[in-house]
Amino acid sequence: MRTKAKLLFIVAIMLLGLTTATIINISLNFRDYSIKSAIDKSKMTATIVKDGLTAHMVNGIMDKREYFLNQISANNEAVKSLWLVRSENVISQYGQGLNDETVRDEIDKKVLETGQTVREIIENSNDITLRVTIPYKATVNGGNTNCLTCHNVQRGDTLGAISMEFDISDMRTSGMLTILKILGINMLFLVIVLFLLNHYVTPYMKLFTCMQDGIKKAYSGDFTHKFETTVSGDGKNIVEQMNTLFTKMQETFGDIKYNLATFIPQGCVSSADPLHEAKTIINELSDVYKFKKTIELDASKAEVYTRIIDILILKYNLKKFALYEVNNVTHERTLFFSTGKDALICQEKVNKDASECRAYRTKSVTISTEFPNLCQVCLSEKQNYICIPFTINNDVSLSISITGDSPAEIEEITSYITSIKHYFEAAKPVIESQILMEKLKDTSLRDGMTGLYNRRFLEEVIDKIMHQATRSKETYSVLMLDVDFFKMVNDTYGHDVGDRVIVEIGKVLKDNIRDADLAIRYGGEEFVVMLHNASDEGTQEVASKIHSAFAALSFDVGTGEMMKKTMSIGISKFPKDGDTIWKCIKFADTALYVAKTTGRNKIVHYEKEMGESGELR
Ligand code: GH3
Ligand code: MG
Ligand code: MG
Repeated sequence: MRTKAKLLFIVAIMLLGLTTATIINISLNFRDYSIKSAIDKSKMTATIVKDGLTAHMVNGIMDKREYFLNQISANNEAVKSLWLVRSENVISQYGQGLNDETVRDEIDKKVLETGQTVREIIENSNDITLRVTIPYKATVNGGNTNCLTCHNVQRGDTLGAISMEFDISDMRTSGMLTILKILGINMLFLVIVLFLLNHYVTPYMKLFTCMQDGIKKAYSGDFTHKFETTVSGDGKNIVEQMNTLFTKMQETFGDIKYNLATFIPQGCVSSADPLHEAKTIINELSDVYKFKKTIELDASKAEVYTRIIDILILKYNLKKFALYEVNNVTHERTLFFSTGKDALICQEKVNKDASECRAYRTKSVTISTEFPNLCQVCLSEKQNYICIPFTINNDVSLSISITGDSPAEIEEITSYITSIKHYFEAAKPVIESQILMEKLKDTSLRDGMTGLYNRRFLEEVIDKIMHQATRSKETYSVLMLDVDFFKMVNDTYGHDVGDRVIVEIGKVLKDNIRDADLAIRYGGEEFVVMLHNASDEGTQEVASKIHSAFAALSFDVGTGEMMKKTMSIGISKFPKDGDTIWKCIKFADTALYVAKTTGRNKIVHYEKEMGESGELR
């Protein structure tokens, strides 16, 4: 509304300025006009007087001139006074005339001396007078008169003058009246203009205010404002467009917020401004995404831990903290990193048995400000701390204990907990797969004879592999292989020959599978092969290659005789056939059983109709 007041003020000032300029202009013109008209009147009067006196003179009735002069004054209200002035020549020839027709003032004297007309306006607070003194000069051919016949003067000499005073005070009064009329009309005009302006501008001003309110709300992320106006035409169109835009924005931001909330369910920020909230979540997601992409390429678990430490120091500016790895089976806790001795705030026994740690035991964040002496294994009751536990898998958990100098510092760090957890969440699958990789390298999980993984490996690792596969929508083709009539080899040629056959199978398997595949010696002469992300055709192809490669082998049984063997293979697919790898191993065994009972030396794919007749041997 300040804008409207300003607008009205400016218009009022402009109109008042215009009025003032008009009044000044009119007053000046009016004055000039009045003076000019008085001068014209004075000239006319002077001519009448001059002609009248000449007529008096020609007719020899000069002594009757007083009546004539008085009549002129009497018949003309504007003439205040009128007198004749004789020059020295005329006085010396004819005397001073009637009523002392001599010089009365300086003006008379000047006119007689110079022979020039003098006009002067004499103004005082009461009235305005126009004083005019016109000289009479001796002429020879001026009409029918020859002045030189009566006057002893030269041609052109000043014989006398006529002085008149005109009252032109009326001019002032009429001027004032005119000005007042103009002022009145202009004021009326001003009021009408301001009224109309106010009438037409007010709806626009209301629209501006409404838009301002809406935009102010929009700045704080609230797009629920409804724009309204009584203005038609363009104003109405703008309002409709703004309402459509705001509805769209409200819906879009609602969707964005909702979708972002699915990425970060706990909500890393809580703000009344959804735009700010969305921006913060996106920044957070972007940071976490970059972090995840980086650690995915890290070579070891230790490298990933180091990145977490860097984040804690660089992003959250933590000065004192310690990162522990806990073995969930033995509950032993190992310090991986600490910023210094003052960050180690737990009693020694916690390292031997992590379940002494409140945060680890309760699987919840423990904050010293929540309750006095909350963690009872802390070295000092006065310590300010936040302990965050994080389970990676059944085997490993992480634990961070952050130390602060004051409860206020702890309060501040508390606000980062959710965000810190996002990094742990992002690191979890990477750490899990690093743990898996470490396990895969572990010799206790390998079979000494073939170098393939052993059954223990399957028992320890297969669930993790399965979860990872489910998470990343990977598949595994499970092949169960068993040598046909193997017992006979042992019985006929002895165990050494049998062992050689097993070693050769190991080689055949290694030669025919890729790095991402797994080959496991499942039992005596039974093997499980897991083909990673293989198509049905690919699976069949690998199975056939293994089958043929083994069948092509010839074993020297020592007597110069060569022995050949075959194998049967049962195949199932994870997760198509069963939702766990164990089920799929069972179904592959079912298919193997079918192969064995239908003639051996063949590859059989599991089908539902086979049921679960096979037994895991
Ligand atoms: P099928 O065609 O039905 O498989 O007949 P099979 O004779 O092969 O029967 P089965 O698979 O049950 O035979 C298993 C035999 O494998 C029993 C055992 O003597 C032998 N075996 C298991 N482990 C080893 C090993 O490490 N070395 C040797 N030489 N023999 C083994
Ligand atoms: Mg066998
Ligand atoms: Mg067997």
